[in-house]
Amino acid sequence: MRLLVVEDDRDLNRQLVTALEQAGYAVDRAYDGEEGHFLGESEPYDAVVLDVGLPKKDGITVLEQWRSAGKLMPVLILTARDRWSDKVQGFDAGADDYVSKPFHMEEVLARLRALLRRAAGHATSELTCGPVRLDTKAGRVVVDGAPVKLTSHEYRLLAYLMHHSGRVVSRTELVEHLYDQDFDRDSNTIEVFVGRLRRKLGVDVIQTVRGLGYLLSPPGGETGG
Ligand code: CA
Repeated sequence: MRLLVVEDDRDLNRQLVTALEQAGYAVDRAYDGEEGHFLGESEPYDAVVLDVGLPKKDGITVLEQWRSAGKLMPVLILTARDRWSDKVQGFDAGADDYVSKPFHMEEVLARLRALLRRAAGHATSELTCGPVRLDTKAGRVVVDGAPVKLTSHEYRLLAYLMHHSGRVVSRTELVEHLYDQDFDRDSNTIEVFVGRLRRKLGVDVIQTVRGLGYLLSPPGGETGG
């Protein structure tokens, strides 16, 4: 899952990016409304953390412009404490949720998990596909009850496929959603990661659909999670 953080407070921006990366997301950052608006319009983010008070272009305007351009990604806005009007304007502009400053990072992480799983049509923080269970809250993967240790890239790959289980995900889509913009992107590495992930999981849940991409489905054929 790839996220965008738009926050002009450099310390807060760094704290958010660090926490989100530790939680297993690929993260891009912007420090003002113009830069944030550009990135959100040109890159396919799975969710955005958007400060309301931003230089060059305020967060509400950025959000309104994304929505009128047809951008549907979930957006969590950061509002100043005691500014109830920010929240009202934010929701009216198309925000999906908000957190007031100062906030606990855990709350931001929990709200993002909820937005991401809802956007993908899942009701709980635990996703399953046959014998594979992925706990998005703890960042853990279990196969037939036994924990599997994955690198952050492997985890990201599996989490993306599990959020979108039952449909074919192309390699291009994976590249766009697994790596931040500074990463040296090469779609061949996806194949390598899929190979490693298959070996570590030890069960046949990731199918290669020739010429199209990958499909996550349980060995029996019924869709889970
Ligand atoms: Ca601000």
